[in-house]
Amino acid sequence: MTSPASSSAPSHVAPSHIVVIGAGIVGVATAYELALRGASVTLLERREGAGLETSRANGGQLSACEVAPWAGPEVPGLILKWMGRDDAPFRLRLKPDPEQWLWLMRFLSRCRASARAERVLPNLQLALLTRARLDAYRAAFAGRGETFDMDHAQNGILRVFRDRHGLAEAREGMARMDAAGVEQRELSPTDCVALEPALAAAFQKDEIAGGIYCPSDGMGDAHLFCRELAAAAESLGVRFRAGEEVEAIEVHDGKTTGVRLADELVAADAVVVAAGPMTARLLRPLGVRLPVYPVKGYSVTLPLEEEAGPMAPNVSVTDEARKVVVSRLGNRLRAAGQAEIGGYDLTLEMPRARSVFQALTGLMPQMNPLEARAEYWCGLRPMSPDGSPVIGELAARSGPIQGLFVNGGHGTLGWTMGAGSAAALADLICGSAPQLDLTPFSHKRFSF
Ligand SMILES: Cc1cc2nc3c(=O)[nH]c(=O)nc-3n(C[C@H](O)[C@H](O)[C@H](O)COP(=O)(O)OP(=O)(O)OC[C@H]3O[C@@H](n4cnc5c(N)ncnc54)[C@H](O)[C@@H]3O)c2cc1C
Repeated sequence: MTSPASSSAPSHVAPSHIVVIGAGIVGVATAYELALRGASVTLLERREGAGLETSRANGGQLSACEVAPWAGPEVPGLILKWMGRDDAPFRLRLKPDPEQWLWLMRFLSRCRASARAERVLPNLQLALLTRARLDAYRAAFAGRGETFDMDHAQNGILRVFRDRHGLAEAREGMARMDAAGVEQRELSPTDCVALEPALAAAFQKDEIAGGIYCPSDGMGDAHLFCRELAAAAESLGVRFRAGEEVEAIEVHDGKTTGVRLADELVAADAVVVAAGPMTARLLRPLGVRLPVYPVKGYSVTLPLEEEAGPMAPNVSVTDEARKVVVSRLGNRLRAAGQAEIGGYDLTLEMPRARSVFQALTGLMPQMNPLEARAEYWCGLRPMSPDGSPVIGELAARSGPIQGLFVNGGHGTLGWTMGAGSAAALADLICGSAPQLDLTPFSHKRFSF
């Protein structure tokens, strides 16, 4: 392992054994990146394999061009407008739960244009680092004569707008992306259909006022990614133990000493909590308060039979009016949407699941005949109130805890930002200068 090389590296020596909790996109990538740096790593996952919770069936978008947080000036109005509607894209279910109320207060305090704008650049840097890391993973697989099979396609993402007002607002963000070297193009309604013929019906219904296309964005299957990368991590020496639930993180005299399973203590001098929506709950007994709260979403996956293939889009599409994203993942089509702030409940409610299918077929009615084969899914986005993840070493209210790290709270963008945050955190833990400034992702930003 490399020795500490910069002032931004933690003060302690590089750990001799690291436990990573959680084998979703973020935890698997963290374990892999640590192993690449020569670290000794155990990856613990409570489910029977990798990528079976929030990373199971997300929207598939690798969307560097869409990294703005959800919290924004229009959100409080939308919550009120959609209140009481079962199929609304956004739903607030208030619980008698202080964790939810505190999170909501923080979220609402971020519903300002300036707060949204300040998060775009840090998120974009993570997304661009993720792109670079995914390229590096593919190259490493290719170097071994293997294919990194994650149904990846870099056909770009097209955001379509129903009204000129939404388009005008999005246009303002283009300058920022341009300055960061990420190309976006504004497209007329006709150009949108020329680029993606699957939008023809929406165009004919006069539902497209224009679009913004980012050619360098892409799509891919996060579940396949988790499975493939977990296997690659094992071949680098990571001990991947599925079916092992961490009950507690052990800390003695201000130092992390390992984790407790049902009938075993796993010793470690560093622990990375990458437990998705469970991150805050695992940390709370240690006196660490992180505002990471679940926001439930739904997806529908359609197998593309031979005759359906030509009718399906090749470009990933975000329908800004219907609040749904559509990605083609090999021989499947995935649509995802819905945001419900309502606790940890994972019940799949059919009216809400079907509303994602209806949003898809509202945009692309030619997909209607595939309804009988639709597979519905829901998952909990691990959301921070400001739309950026929390990455780095943690401290409790009572003082620092040596060797306790977090990589969580990626919310709506865990696929887009996960591998980059894993690489930066692995640098930090192993004592080299992180490839990007981690200050904007520190947990300290929430200490008010
Ligand atoms: C409907 C929907 C659509 C989305 N679309 C997109 C998209 O298009 N693009 C994008 O970038 N992002 C998208 N996301 C967000 C993205 O999927 C998430 O940010 C990402 O999956 C979070 O990954 P994670 O590794 O942090 O969490 P998870 O995938 O939930 O992984 C955490 C793991 O920790 C394990 N775990 C928890 N507690 C314990 C414990 N005590 N012991 C052991 N293991 C534990 C869990 O079992 C789980 O496997 C979407 C999310 C949803 C719900």
